[in-house]
Amino acid sequence: MNVKIGLCIPNPGWEIVLSQEGLCFETIEKDSEFNFEEFVLVIPNREMVESNRDIFIHYITHSGLVIADKETFPILLDIEIHKRNISYIIPKAGSLFSQFGLIDFYSEFVVPKTNSLQIIDEDLHIYEYSNNSGNVVILPFSINDLILNKNSVRKRFYAERKELPSEVVSRVSKGKIREINFRIILQMFSKLKAPLVHKWYYPKGSENVFIFRIDTDFCSAEDAKNLYALCEKYNINATWFVDTQDENMLSEVYTSFSQHEIALHCENHKVYKSYKENYDNILCAQKKLKKYGMDAKGFAAPFGEWNESLGKAGEDLDFEYSSEFALDYDDLPFYPYFNDQFSTVMQIPIHPVSVGRLRRAHFSDDEMMSYYKAVIDYNFSRNIPVLLYHHPHHNQLNVWEEIFAYIQSKQVWNPTMHKFSQWWKKRSESTFSYNYSNGRLKITCAAELECRLRDFQKGDAKIKSDVSYKLDEISFTRREALRFKENKAMRRYHWRDSLNNYEQKKAKKKQ
Ligand SMILES: [Zn+2]
Repeated sequence: MNVKIGLCIPNPGWEIVLSQEGLCFETIEKDSEFNFEEFVLVIPNREMVESNRDIFIHYITHSGLVIADKETFPILLDIEIHKRNISYIIPKAGSLFSQFGLIDFYSEFVVPKTNSLQIIDEDLHIYEYSNNSGNVVILPFSINDLILNKNSVRKRFYAERKELPSEVVSRVSKGKIREINFRIILQMFSKLKAPLVHKWYYPKGSENVFIFRIDTDFCSAEDAKNLYALCEKYNINATWFVDTQDENMLSEVYTSFSQHEIALHCENHKVYKSYKENYDNILCAQKKLKKYGMDAKGFAAPFGEWNESLGKAGEDLDFEYSSEFALDYDDLPFYPYFNDQFSTVMQIPIHPVSVGRLRRAHFSDDEMMSYYKAVIDYNFSRNIPVLLYHHPHHNQLNVWEEIFAYIQSKQVWNPTMHKFSQWWKKRSESTFSYNYSNGRLKITCAAELECRLRDFQKGDAKIKSDVSYKLDEISFTRREALRFKENKAMRRYHWRDSLNNYEQKKAKKKQ
């Protein structure tokens, strides 16, 4: 049997998640010829369930697997529901999802009103419906609503101390929601005893990635040169998102940083509401960079802000990637979806807490080092890219010296952001397929890709293309996913949030 997932489209949120995970899936359009029996798992959309409910029911009673979210399960299973507004959830210890800690939804949940379903997670309201060997996992939220959500809010980030750093970031925990979905798919496959193979997130031989991003924010030549020298000392490839107001900095300083990538931050340190103002601001900076022979492929907006008009300006100015934590943070790259289409500009999420934010929360140097080491360990343990950022005028090179040495000890891939985006694009465009029959697994994939078999309990195993494996003879590597001890107090109102918001508003006005 050819193992693949069927995704009914349009379903952009799910398309983003499945692509991020590099799963083997095919899209199914409503009016096309389709046969659900070809798929191990089908993810419906509303339209498809409304028009083809009988086909779904037949599929489920014949060993089919379905993940139905709040848009589809009430129609598919014809059950009573009630609605609840959910801000965030911390699943209990021992749950399938307890390792994710605090998960932000800020969304309306639709919960089935019946006790004939099995509970997968009580706190998250995730249930399971079984019929013969078929299985439906019921999600009370909408993956499209959550993954395409564009709201941002000030959030506090976990550290082992009382006063926590905060930043204005994506309101929804998109990365964790992606991980929840992957875990559900993994568990469904394992029940069916079907192997789950996916494209590994990084190139062959790399377990993870470390990327160092610098937003110059009108720093002095001395500060920029000192940071550059430190990166050179530790062989760190950095990506500099430069401001362009001071042309001397462009001609004398940034052009000499030839070992690193030069990308674009801004002319005016602002994100505007209107398309035209965003476009003109970026175009002005782009022209200046070109004047000095720098062709920026990437863009990172001031304050990590993002809106659709900015996204559109980035597309029209031909950027290959951009990076804004108001859209997403600590997650795998993806192509944002707005104006009814996928953007041509790849979004590369970073960890949003800078030294400036730690300093504002009164972290000592040692605490800053521990904070970043904890983020590195956490992300590595969950296969999330480690992207940290810094402003040269905050100096604090002792902290970065420690972090760079820590990274060196891990022997991790350290490309510039552009190199990483090129890899991710290639990964996104490459396809693979696999077959499982009589206990044997065989995959076919492009030479540059690495595919891995994932197991719920055992971990992951590298699978070579065109080799026939006996499934029960494959040996796995297990990695323990770390979790932060996040608690409810982190989302309770704190007067410091208002103070921080006021300070940011003031900083924006000044520019
Ligand atoms: Zn900035």
